[in-house]
Amino acid sequence: MFDVIVIGAGPSGMMAAGRSAELGNNTLLIEKTDSSGKKLLLSGSARCNITNTCERVEDFISNFSESGKFLRNAFSVFFNKELLRFFRKRGLDFKVERGGKVFPITDKASDVLAILVKYVKDSGCKIVYRKEVLDVIKRGDVFDVIAKDNTIFSAKKVILAAGGLSYPRTGSSGFGFHIAKKLGHTVMKPRPGLTGVILKSNFLKEWQGVSFDDAAVSVYKDNLLIHEGRGEMIFTHFGISGPIIMHMSAIIYDALEGAKRVFLSIDFKPEMSAAALEEAFQKEFKDFPARKISNALKEFVPARLVRRILEAMRFDGDKRLSQVSIEERRIIAGKLKDFRMTVLFVRPIQEAMVTCGGVSVKEIDPKTMESRIVKGLYFAGELIDVDGKTGGYNLQAAFSTGWVAGGSPKDLS
Ligand SMILES: Cc1cc2nc3c(=O)[nH]c(=O)nc-3n(C[C@H](O)[C@H](O)[C@H](O)COP(=O)(O)OP(=O)(O)OC[C@H]3O[C@@H](n4cnc5c(N)ncnc54)[C@H](O)[C@@H]3O)c2cc1C
Repeated sequence: MFDVIVIGAGPSGMMAAGRSAELGNNTLLIEKTDSSGKKLLLSGSARCNITNTCERVEDFISNFSESGKFLRNAFSVFFNKELLRFFRKRGLDFKVERGGKVFPITDKASDVLAILVKYVKDSGCKIVYRKEVLDVIKRGDVFDVIAKDNTIFSAKKVILAAGGLSYPRTGSSGFGFHIAKKLGHTVMKPRPGLTGVILKSNFLKEWQGVSFDDAAVSVYKDNLLIHEGRGEMIFTHFGISGPIIMHMSAIIYDALEGAKRVFLSIDFKPEMSAAALEEAFQKEFKDFPARKISNALKEFVPARLVRRILEAMRFDGDKRLSQVSIEERRIIAGKLKDFRMTVLFVRPIQEAMVTCGGVSVKEIDPKTMESRIVKGLYFAGELIDVDGKTGGYNLQAAFSTGWVAGGSPKDLS
């Protein structure tokens, strides 16, 4: 009989298991694959954007979906400073990149993982690999954790840290949701988060790879504006991606439900008002009257976009600037600030960086991560219904909730 069983050796489970064992609990960590932290190894393009330097907890939380407020308590105990101190103490230093993104100085996610694995082992925690948990049953004050090979492990406390549904090849296949539901919890519908958006268009091949450091994108559901974002984006073979799109992918996913049409309005020149853009056109037209409109537009947007933008207005690209009327000029400027593209779908959850949805935060005590429904059952990491933007927010949430779940209650005797 163990004091604590942790299911899932991702970042949240490893942190929970190490913390629990270092506090003196007889702890077992069960992992279904043949090694720990498979998703962690992929994180940040294998460089691991471990957290963000965002100093105030409230600012940090503003980078999460609405339910992110749930993390306030966990962050007050174990936040970015504590996380970095944890790794520095064990010999790994960090560097900060654009947007406050923190990476290990070695640029290797494997260095982060090695420290976590060592932490778990040194704490005295027992680890078993290739052991897929199929069921968790509560018998009085004790949990029976049943593996696929029929082994039964028992403990007074179980921490579910089995991840969400994204990237199932890393081991996270929705098992945690299934068990949480079976034990009486509400699981908010799992949806793909931080992923690309599939557009209806016959010219994506031509636009593939064209990127913007600064574009503004508005999401419309049946002609109603429902969301706006601004930042980096890139056209891809399937549609559109990049940080700003990934951050709105869950909203777009929700919008598609029951909608006749969802479309994106892209402003390619957000730094200029429509009037300023028209004025810039006017100057261009005056200075180079013999220029073709298709060439002139290349001064304003990437060359590869021009043909299709003109086509969308049924505009002859060979027309000279001197022949373009004031009204036409206004229409072209308008198009660069409001280029509409229909959304077909978002990329599947298997390709999403995070799973939105999960175990309802209303049913978890934010101070301990214990279920409010089943005493002795705790949650950590991505299976909880909180999801953040790119920038290190999700890993910090996994580590913080893992730390808190592993540390509470301290005494199980
Ligand atoms: C490509 C990619 C890049 C990312 N980059 C970043 C980044 O740079 N920064 C950032 O903050 N976030 C990033 N994320 C998100 C981040 O990796 C996750 O939020 C984080 O890994 C969640 O940790 P977790 O421990 O909750 O779950 P996971 O990492 O998914 O771990 C869950 C573990 O549970 C195990 N498990 C599942 N079911 C069972 C079972 N039945 N029995 C036993 N074990 C089981 C799994 O095998 C797995 O090892 C990225 C995600 C992806 C996919």
